[in-house]
Amino acid sequence: MARVYNFSAGPSVLPEDVLKRAAAEMLDCNGSGQSAMEMSHRSKEYQAIIDNAEALLRELMNIPDNYKVLFLQGGAHLQFSMLPLNLMNKSGKADFVLTGQWATKAQKEAARYGEANIVASSKDATFSYIPKLDKATFTPDADYFHICVNNTIYGTRFTEFPDTGDVPLVGDISSCILSEPIDVSKFGVLYAGAQKNLAGAGVTLVIIREDLIGNARESTPTMLDYKIHADAGSMYNTPPCYTIYIAGLVLEWVKAQGGLEAMKAINEKKAAMLYDFLDNSEMFSNPVNKEDRSLMNVTFVTGNEELDAKFVAEAKAAGFVNLKGHRSVGGMRASIYNAMPVEGVEALVEFMKKFEAENK
Ligand SMILES: *Cc1c(COP(=O)(O)O)cnc(C)c1O
Repeated sequence: MARVYNFSAGPSVLPEDVLKRAAAEMLDCNGSGQSAMEMSHRSKEYQAIIDNAEALLRELMNIPDNYKVLFLQGGAHLQFSMLPLNLMNKSGKADFVLTGQWATKAQKEAARYGEANIVASSKDATFSYIPKLDKATFTPDADYFHICVNNTIYGTRFTEFPDTGDVPLVGDISSCILSEPIDVSKFGVLYAGAQKNLAGAGVTLVIIREDLIGNARESTPTMLDYKIHADAGSMYNTPPCYTIYIAGLVLEWVKAQGGLEAMKAINEKKAAMLYDFLDNSEMFSNPVNKEDRSLMNVTFVTGNEELDAKFVAEAKAAGFVNLKGHRSVGGMRASIYNAMPVEGVEALVEFMKKFEAENK
């Protein structure tokens, strides 16, 4: 079967060049006579792979020297627990902006360990906007302030970050990592599950300022202590070796595209094609506040559930897969991560036009 255009929110499409290279290197990776999957993680061949991935990430994201890069497991979900265990130990308080399901889960998990304050929420309108923040409502002595930078399910994103002063800002960038430049120095911690824009599932990236490491509460399980992983170069135990290898290939690909400024320009172009179509369509619309629209996840509805289902089914038959919206919101969602080519979005817009004309 020919390759489809895959609009899955995650795990999601990977660059075709990366998949071809991984296939070509399956039996002999970098002249080692082995697959990256088969290497000892303690070997010099594997060390070169993880070092290369970290160096490329540091270069592309311009990560300052006083930040550690950790390759962990457990998904973004485990960070919802690791953050309070490691950070929420001075005042025992943290602030949260509820912009969707992931932000809410981060808050709920932190509430098991301390005071998890909700400073703002857009739940009143099904998370269709990013709430305006008032600094006066922030907890001055919070141990961290958490935001979900791109809200994968609802299709919104922060375009401006809150000024939290000395309180470390923590950002979930699972679905927008590498999609555009981000000023890492504004954050205490950034984290991302890899399966959206970085690699396959299995690795969770944590970028953490060094002074935030080493404060875990006494009862923290060893495997959940950032210090253990930082001191061991992400090799305290066996890391997700193959996924880190794929991440390295993706990072090389991003660099070859011109880095994050270039990715941003391409992503803006792709997103604009879809949003422009949606804004001019009489059948489809995007339910999100315009200035908060995501570059990565574009949600849309027809306003008629049966028609939505017909669209998703016909799109699938035409080779546009995984367009169904998240089960909690319904409708449709096109996730147009870095690896989705411009032609894929062009073809989708053409298909939507045709569907609209045929179903008036
Ligand atoms: C997908 C996603 C998560 C959950 O990731 P897991 O790796 O499945 O735990 C959390 N936050 C955001 C923003 C996501 O897109």
